[in-house]
Amino acid sequence: MSASSFSISRHATRAVAIGPVTVGGGAPVVVQSMTNTDTADVEATVRQVAQLANAGSELVRLTVNSEEAAAAVPVIRERLDAMNLDVPLIGDFHFNGHKLLSRYPECAQALGKYRINPGNVGRGKKRDEQFASMIETACRYDKPVRIGVNWGSLDPALVARLMDDNSRLDEPRDSRELIHEAMVSSALDNAARAEELGLGRDRIILSVKMSGVQDLIAVYRTLARRCDHALHLGLTEAGMGARGIVASTAALAVLLQEGIGDTIRISLTPEPGGSRSEEVRVAQEILQSMGLRAFTPGVVACPGCGRTSSDYFQKLAQDIQAYLREQMPSWRKRYPGVEDMTVAVMGCVVNGPGESKHANIGISLPGTGERPVAPVYVDGEKTVTLKGERIAEEFQQLVDRYVAERYG
Ligand code: SF4
Repeated sequence: MSASSFSISRHATRAVAIGPVTVGGGAPVVVQSMTNTDTADVEATVRQVAQLANAGSELVRLTVNSEEAAAAVPVIRERLDAMNLDVPLIGDFHFNGHKLLSRYPECAQALGKYRINPGNVGRGKKRDEQFASMIETACRYDKPVRIGVNWGSLDPALVARLMDDNSRLDEPRDSRELIHEAMVSSALDNAARAEELGLGRDRIILSVKMSGVQDLIAVYRTLARRCDHALHLGLTEAGMGARGIVASTAALAVLLQEGIGDTIRISLTPEPGGSRSEEVRVAQEILQSMGLRAFTPGVVACPGCGRTSSDYFQKLAQDIQAYLREQMPSWRKRYPGVEDMTVAVMGCVVNGPGESKHANIGISLPGTGERPVAPVYVDGEKTVTLKGERIAEEFQQLVDRYVAERYG
């Protein structure tokens, strides 16, 4: 069964168009990412946006935190357009967004969407004016906005008001529930204010990011129940490596399974020297493993055990996975549907033939004590048996031939 043949009933949300990308309204869940370069460094930022877009990021957010960064945005946009990369850029604004957007109209125009954190817009009366100024800019340039609440920067005035109200209740809520309510209220109140200022509901995306898995699930369930805005999902400050990947997957999988979430970002802290594109790959893997979208042919590989005497099959599985990823930019155009393909690389005869038969194409390598031959299965039928030193190369050629014949 192909990965994309599952469908989950989605929470009904308004569709929001961001350049060529649609978020919400039942559109496939969109993968996005964020750069970690200095946006004012045009060369480095263009390089990283291109890397993220080529890895499959459909929206790329960059911080716009200074005059230099705001001035760089239209140049970055031009350079990407010259490279035929139409990935929309999202400007991430905190504290001075109102000034930057009004002083740098070319930046306001070049961005595909603005992210506004209502907790970092300003304080007191200024807050309302500065928020209004950013929304008016979004209306002027017909840009969508994400009202992105983050529990690390919740509006203190809102929290104080909710705490006051809570203290007057006969049965006050606990502090955790109060924070959840503050997150949801902040998102909804600011969305309502943006609508009053003239921004269409189809130009507003909401997020309420927290760093605890259970908190995130609870707060998004509440938000989804109370609005029909398109929702951006992400576990904020997910962390590094396996911890960040597992925590993000645990939180997002529950929500996605309930049909909540129209676009996702995985906030991984990269390993020193690691690739920023890892967060894109993880987002794609979550969606693909849940059967919500297909991006790259899947490699089914067994974990190996005492029956596997060498790491040969692990290496073959790794090489095939890398090969498939490398081919995808061109295969995607030449072989539509190839992203649904599964390739099995199995370590011995125990589960090897069975798993290989379920894949589009699979190989069962010899385990310890087995004859040094590797049967290959295509669409469930054993077709050929490979042996000798060149099993890996020959299997790769068989995969190429299968792709050309099946999807060409
Ligand atoms: S398929 Fe064979 S080698 Fe792989 S985990 Fe199962 S028993 Fe071990």
